[in-house]
Amino acid sequence: MKNVDVIIIGGGASGSAAALTLGRSRQHVLLFDNDTNRNRVTRESHNFITRDGMSPIAFRERAQLDALAYPTVKKISATVASIAKIGGGCEVTTGEGEVFVAKRILIATGVQEVFSHEQIRTYYGTSIFGCPFCDGYELRDQPLAVFAEDEPAILHLTKLLSNWSADLVVFTNGKPVDKEAVKPLTEQGISIQTNPISQLHGENGKLSSVELLNGEQVLRRGGFVVPEYVRADPFAEQLQLEKNDRDEIITDGFGRTNVLGVHIAGETEKKASSSLLMASTAGNMAASMMVMDIANERFS
Ligand SMILES: Cc1cc2nc3c(=O)[nH]c(=O)nc-3n(C[C@H](O)[C@H](O)[C@H](O)COP(=O)(O)OP(=O)(O)OC[C@H]3O[C@@H](n4cnc5c(N)ncnc54)[C@H](O)[C@@H]3O)c2cc1C
Repeated sequence: MKNVDVIIIGGGASGSAAALTLGRSRQHVLLFDNDTNRNRVTRESHNFITRDGMSPIAFRERAQLDALAYPTVKKISATVASIAKIGGGCEVTTGEGEVFVAKRILIATGVQEVFSHEQIRTYYGTSIFGCPFCDGYELRDQPLAVFAEDEPAILHLTKLLSNWSADLVVFTNGKPVDKEAVKPLTEQGISIQTNPISQLHGENGKLSSVELLNGEQVLRRGGFVVPEYVRADPFAEQLQLEKNDRDEIITDGFGRTNVLGVHIAGETEKKASSSLLMASTAGNMAASMMVMDIANERFS
């Protein structure tokens, strides 16, 4: 089956939810995935009703199996390298050079993190996380590090984290801060460390302290970070998808991009973190609109 109704690139929360909706709508779907979902580094997923505490691996397997139960949905474990618009659809080429054609495409490839200090990656998913709603409860009342560089991010994450722990220290990794801007935090005794981080200490992914370049060691049992989120694929550029000045893909709010037949869902749309539930909802919504477009076309 090399010519289908819809090709979905990405079998995470958004792509699998879309595949389920499309399969139930009797569309022929190819779901491509290369196992680079960013939550693969952690052991438990939280805050998704009916699935609280489930492992991300089991969640993904179950999500894909739900969609693959429908006979018109097939999965291909491969990396998509390029997408090109052709007359009446899109052509998708894998890293191995295989070519597939579909009338419509859904890009659901998620995002990846870039950290200001590379050692954060060693602890990410075990004792350092990005989303307090996902993992704050498990680190409640612990001495926590807040890794954030600019004032809006520092204020946002630190204020939010105060719901789970009163013992917070902010690390800007060498970036100076406007003292007036962070006064709401310092006035409440929250320390802002602007010295560069020399190294993180801990074992088996469990953080024990943050060492600064001036030699000071600050005991911490975990932390939260504001990474830079990036798209790891070139599809937006290849297809000339319209973006705004924040590098978000512009859609109609239902996943339709400026290129006819090219739809987008999940974290890759806004190049920002969300959650399994929000990404699933986006996939469900985008797929529903694709099905409506297909039906409308039939009567035009
Ligand atoms: C450490 C950590 C903990 C988290 N904990 C939680 C939690 O407890 N609760 C919660 O709700 N959320 C949690 N999240 C966030 C959650 O993982 C994301 O919000 C969600 O996975 C986003 O879904 P998505 O479909 O946009 O992207 P993803 O789930 O990342 O899926 C993208 C998929 O696209 C595939 N892909 C990418 N490029 C290609 C390509 N070129 N070809 C083929 N396939 C490709 C990848 O293999 C991947 O499977 C956590 C994230 C992290 C990093």
